[in-house]
Amino acid sequence: MSETVERHEFGAEVGRLLDLVVHALYSDREIFLRELVANAADAMDRRRFEALTQSVPALPEGASIRILPDKADRTLVISDQGIGMTKEELARNLGTIARSGTRAFTQSLADAKPGERPSLIGQFGVGFYSAFMVAERVEVVSRRAGAEEGWAWASAGQGDFTLAPASREEPGTTITLHIKADAEEFLEPIRLQTIIRKWADHITVPITIARDGKDEAANEGTALWRKPKSEVTEEQYAEFYRHIAHAFDQPWATLHWRAEGTTEFAALLFIPGMKPFNPVEGERDSRVRLHVRRMFITEEAALLPPWLRFVQGVVDTEDLPLNVSREMLQSTPALARIRKAVTGRVLSELKSKAKDAESYAGFWENFGPVLKEGVWEDNEYRKDLAPLLRFRSSAVEGWTSLPDYVSRMKEGQEAIYILVGDDAEALAKSSQLEGFRARGVEVLLLSDQVDAFWPERLDRFDDKPIRSITQGAVDLSKIGGGTEAGEAADVGKLLPLLKAALEGEVSEVRATDRLVDSAVVLAAPAGGPDLQMQRLLRRAGRSFGAGLPVLEINPRHALIRKLAGAEGDLKAEAGTLLDLARLQDGDVPRDPAGFARQVAALLAGSLD
Ligand code: ADP
Ligand code: MG
Repeated sequence: MSETVERHEFGAEVGRLLDLVVHALYSDREIFLRELVANAADAMDRRRFEALTQSVPALPEGASIRILPDKADRTLVISDQGIGMTKEELARNLGTIARSGTRAFTQSLADAKPGERPSLIGQFGVGFYSAFMVAERVEVVSRRAGAEEGWAWASAGQGDFTLAPASREEPGTTITLHIKADAEEFLEPIRLQTIIRKWADHITVPITIARDGKDEAANEGTALWRKPKSEVTEEQYAEFYRHIAHAFDQPWATLHWRAEGTTEFAALLFIPGMKPFNPVEGERDSRVRLHVRRMFITEEAALLPPWLRFVQGVVDTEDLPLNVSREMLQSTPALARIRKAVTGRVLSELKSKAKDAESYAGFWENFGPVLKEGVWEDNEYRKDLAPLLRFRSSAVEGWTSLPDYVSRMKEGQEAIYILVGDDAEALAKSSQLEGFRARGVEVLLLSDQVDAFWPERLDRFDDKPIRSITQGAVDLSKIGGGTEAGEAADVGKLLPLLKAALEGEVSEVRATDRLVDSAVVLAAPAGGPDLQMQRLLRRAGRSFGAGLPVLEINPRHALIRKLAGAEGDLKAEAGTLLDLARLQDGDVPRDPAGFARQVAALLAGSLD
C-alpha cells in the first residue's frame, strides 16, 4: 500500500450498523441499487443548482447515471457526473451515520413488517451502506465539482476504510462494487433493468445500463408530474413521494394537476401521512422543488408559505427561463402567481379532506400547529384558515371546529370562549371553567405554543368575537342555567378592603359569577395579554407589558361569605386568597414556604 493511503476506523455505530444491514435485510438486497442511484441523482441535482448560484462547472449536456456490470471482473460500477465529494466529505458522509443511531434502526427493523423493511434503509440515512449487502468491497472515487484533485475511499465494510488521492478526469463519483459470490445475479443487465423499473423509474436523470458494450436506457425518464393522472399508479406516486421527501410513509394526500392560462405549470404535491422522522428544528421555508421545463432548479424558491412547509413535491413551469437567478426567484411576478395558485389549491384540498373527520384528525395531529402559524402571520389567508382549525373542547370529545362550536352556542351567548394554557389535561380541569360548565357554555381548550399568539390576530369568527375567559370581565348573566345555589354575600365592603390589602399586586378586585366551587380566580386586565398567554410568552422569552392581574371572588362561596362579615384589615386573608388563585392556575404562591407553614398551622387547628 502506498504511503499516501490513510486508514480510518468507522465510528463504532457504523460497524454495528453494517453488520445489521448486511444480515437483517438479506431478502431485500436489491434495494442497494435504488439507494446508490438515488444518491447519484441527488448529487446531479445539487450540481445543477450550485452551478447556478456558485462558481461550480455546469452539469454537462445529456449527463447521465451509468451502470456497468462486468461479469469477468465481478464488479458493478455506478458512475455519476454530480457534485462529487472532497476528501473530508468522503470521510464524513461515508464514515459516520449522519442522522440516527444503530439502536433506533435495530428497533425499527424488529418492529417492521417484512414489506416495510426496504424503506427503513433510506429513512435512517444508511443508504450508502446497503452496498455491503451485495459487495465484499466497495471503492468510491470522487472529485468535487470545482476541485482539481480526486480522492478514493475504499472499505470491505469491516470496521475501517482507507482514503487516498486518486485521479478522475471529470467531477462526479464512481462507485465500484466487488460483488459477493452469492450476489452474481446483480451482474445481469436484465435483473438490473428490472430493479430500476421498479424502484427508480421516476428519476428524471437518464440512467443507462451497459450491455454487450453498449449503454442502454434503463429508465423512462418522463417526469411523473407531466404524465396524465390516469397513467400513474398509486404506488408510483408513493415511491416518488418517498424519493423527493426522503420519507418512508404513504402520503395522506396527493395533488396532481396542470394549470393552464395566464400561468402554466404542472404540480405534483404531497401531504405526508406522518410527521417527518427527523424534523429539522427551526426550518421554516417550504422546500417544494421548482423545475423549469422539467429541469430541477432549486428547492429554495419558497413556493408555499412557511405554514404549509410540510407539503412536499414539485412544481414545473414554462413561465421562467432556465437560467433563473436568485434575485429572480424573489421578485418575478410569474412566480408570485404560481405561489398564489399553488397555495389556494392546497387549501381547497384541505377543505375537502376535512369532511372526513377521522382522517383529518390524523392530519391535524401531525401538522395542526404549523397550520396555525398562518393564522398568526398571514393576513391574506387568515380567514381561509379559520374553518380548517381544530380544537379540544370542554364540551365534546375529540376535535371540534369553529363552525361546529358556533352551531352549539347557547341562547344569549355572544362570544366564542377559549382557554389557553400549555397542558391540555390541566386546562380541562381548570377552575376557570366552572361557571361555563355550570351554564353549559362550551370553551375551546388551546395548548400549543402558537396558541399564545394567533388569537390576538383572529379575533372574530362568523361575526362572533373570540374571547379568552381569563381576560377581562366575563358576563355570563345573559345566559341562563347557572347554578345559583347558595346566597350571594354582600361584598360591597369586602372588595375595597381586599384591594387595599393587595395594593401593588392586583389591579382590581371584583365579584364574579363564573365560579361555582372555587372561592377565587385570577383574570387578566381587559386589553392586555391573557394570563396563560403571559405565562407562555414568559416561557418563550418574550417581553410584554402586561398590567397587574384582577382578583375575582365568588360571593356565594362559604369562605367569601364569612370574610364579608369579618372585622379588621384582612391583610393575611387577602394574601392567602391571592395565593390560592395562583395555585389554581398552576403557579406557585408568592411565598411558597410561608404558605405551606400557614396551611399546616390551619390543619393543626382544625384537628384540635
Ligand atoms: P442519505 O442519502 O440519506 O443522506 P446515504 O447513506 O445514502 O444517506 O448517503 C450519505 C451521504 O453521502 C449523502 O447525503 C451524500 O452527501 C453523500 N453521497 C452519497 N453518494 C453520493 C454521490 N454519488 N455523490 C455525492 N455525494 C454522495
Ligand atoms: Mg441516500
